[in-house]
This record gives sequence, C-alpha cells and structure tokens, in this order.
Amino acid sequence: MKISKKAQSVPPSATIAVDAKAKALKAQGVDVVGFGAGEPDFDTPEYIKEAAIKAMKAGKTKYTPTQGVIELRTAIADKLLKENSLKYAPDQIIVNIGAKHSVYEAMQAVLDDGDEVILPAPYWVTYPETIKLAGAKAKIVEGDKENGYKITAKQLKKAINKETTMLVMNSPNNPGGFTYTPEELKEIAKALEGTNVIVLSDEIYEKLVYGKTKFVSFASLSEDAYNRTLTVNGFSKAFSMTGWRLGYTAGPKEVIKAMEQLQSHMTQNPVSFIQYAAITALSDPEGSVEKMRIEFERRGKYMVQRLNGIKGIICPEPTGAFYCFPDVSSHYGRSIGGVKIDGSMSFAQALLEQGSVALVPGLPFGCDKNIRLSFATSLEQITKGLDRIEKWLSQ
Ligand code: PMP
Repeated sequence: MKISKKAQSVPPSATIAVDAKAKALKAQGVDVVGFGAGEPDFDTPEYIKEAAIKAMKAGKTKYTPTQGVIELRTAIADKLLKENSLKYAPDQIIVNIGAKHSVYEAMQAVLDDGDEVILPAPYWVTYPETIKLAGAKAKIVEGDKENGYKITAKQLKKAINKETTMLVMNSPNNPGGFTYTPEELKEIAKALEGTNVIVLSDEIYEKLVYGKTKFVSFASLSEDAYNRTLTVNGFSKAFSMTGWRLGYTAGPKEVIKAMEQLQSHMTQNPVSFIQYAAITALSDPEGSVEKMRIEFERRGKYMVQRLNGIKGIICPEPTGAFYCFPDVSSHYGRSIGGVKIDGSMSFAQALLEQGSVALVPGLPFGCDKNIRLSFATSLEQITKGLDRIEKWLSQ
C-alpha cells in the first residue's frame, strides 16, 4: 500500500532501535547490560495503582472532557502554583497522552509551514521529527562543550531571525544530563524580549536534579517569559509512570484552546481512570519522588566518576535527568576488535556486539562525539556495564 511522504520522512526512534537490538540479543541468551532506557527502573508506587483501580471500580470509565477532568486540571494548577510559582487557571491547562503527545500537539497548534524553530543541541530525538511534522524547520544551535553543552543567550540572539517562531528548551536535559541555572535562563529570557518567539519548555525531568542544582520553570522568570511560554510536563519520569501515558501543557488560553480542538479529533481525551490516579500521584503521600531522586543521584555520581576514570572519556557531572553524556571521540579513528570506530554509531554498535553493553549513540541527539548512558538501572548493572566498557576500550 502507498505510504505518505510525511510518514516516510520520520525515521524510527534511535533510542528504541538500540533497545530492540539489545532485547533481541538478550532473547538469544546474551547477558547484555542495558544503558539505553529512558525510563525509571522503579515500579509505579502502589498507591497510584490503587487509585487507578478505585477510579475504575467507581465507574470512571467513560469519555472525559477533551482537556482532561477538572479535578486533575485543578490539581495541576495547584502544583504549578505551589512548586513552580506559576499561576495558571484550569482552562489554561490541557492533559495529553504523555508529554511526547504534548510536544507534538503544541507544535501542531502554533507552527506553520516554513516557520523556524531554534533547537539547542544536544536535543531529545523526538523534537526534530515533531518540528518537521508541523511543517517547520529546525535551526540547530550547538551547546558548547566548555559551557556544559548549554547554549548561551549570545548564541540565541545570533540565531533569531524573522522566521523564528519557537525556541525549544529542555532543562534538565535529555540526553545531556545538564540543567540550566536560573541566571542562565534569565539571560535567555531577556534575549527573547521584544521578539515573538514562543518558548516550548519541556520540564519533564524537573524533579530529578542533583547536588545544589535548583530547578526553575521558564515561565516563572518574568511576565514576558510567562506570556510566551508553553510549559510541558508529565508523570512518566517523576512518578515512574511511563506506560500510563499522561502529560500536560500549560500556557496562554488561546493556544490551549487550539490544542483542545486538535485533540478532540485525534485522541478525544486522556484515559479516564488514569487521570484520577494522577491526582493521587501529584499528592505524593509517601514521598516516593524524593526516594527515587536520591537513588538516581547516588547512581549518577558513581557512573560519572567511573566514566571519567576510563582513558579517553570526558563526562560532565550530571545535574539533572538520569543520563551521563560523555565525549568518547578520542577513541574515534581506532580499530577495536577488528571494527573501525568512526563515530558514535559504530562505537555503540561495536560495544554492543563485542562488549554486550547497550547504550545510545549521540548522533541522533545532534552530538556525534558523545554517547548517552542512562543510570535508570541498578548500581550492580552500572558497575558491571562500566567494567565491560573499560575492558573493551583498553584493548
Ligand atoms: N520530553 C523528554 C525530554 C523526554 O526525555 C521524554 C521521554 N523520553 C518525554 C518528553 C516524553 O515523556 P512521556 O511521553 O512519557 O510523558
């Protein structure tokens, strides 16, 4: 059957591809250590599951308003006010089927053919595709390694032109594991003043910050920032609810309304009983989020220390999310186990085949010098995987 040009233009997700290959090797009995996962390894807290079952039993099994039930939108508005100093009314919030859906739908709602979107690299693999699907063009601005891979306000100013419609901000960052400081964000917000640039601020990793790192919502920086920002967040990472598929967008009423119109014809509403479970998740009665954060911090510290102890690997300390994003390019040009390593793709492939460690090459994140390792896996697996990488590279 005919396949549309649009569908053909979207490559399969590189992160999913590595995961599939690792799973196939595992199925053959190979003991693969997986650093590819973009999801917490913890189970969803029990009380969230119970809240979903309770809602289901109470008959919350029908269509809901497209935007999401008012009880959840009110709980999200309370959360945004209390935790992020953001004042959004419930009608400025739309609940989506995961933050991935939020990003897709927000872009569909505000972008037109030929619009330019400034996309700082490294970037999450989905952004270039959702930008393309909205008819727009990504303008990549590379974060400097010396600046911890973050872009500066100066770089941003230089990149803005008449066609610039949007800037995608993602802090804490996937794959970079970095977090912009409040000062850096303020400078970026200032650089946007006087322009019509919309900011899509993907804050899905907000709860996972380490050391002295302070998370700040972009829209809370100033009134100007508030008016130009679409705040995206979700339940996957903080509450270990990846499979539940629930995210949300907050922003100017007219954009949320446009998203609602699109959503009403695409997915109708997020799953009814999951919305009620999400209200319980937000109340976090057992402090599960902090328990998981502490564990991630411990693992991240160990991983970065081990990586920097391996010859030819340079890795900044992760300040957020659950990724290490080391530069391994000093190994490029070498031949390992008879395979020429000429970039992150061959590095990841050879390591998986020869060393039985799965990680994600940096190329699809816009940084071919780097690789991404997720520390959303046990310390035991991390130790085993890093021992293997060290041994493989010391050949
Ligand atoms: N944004 C970023 C930066 C992510 O890494 C992810 C998940 N990999 C998402 C959004 C999507 O999360 P979900 O759709 O599971 O809510």
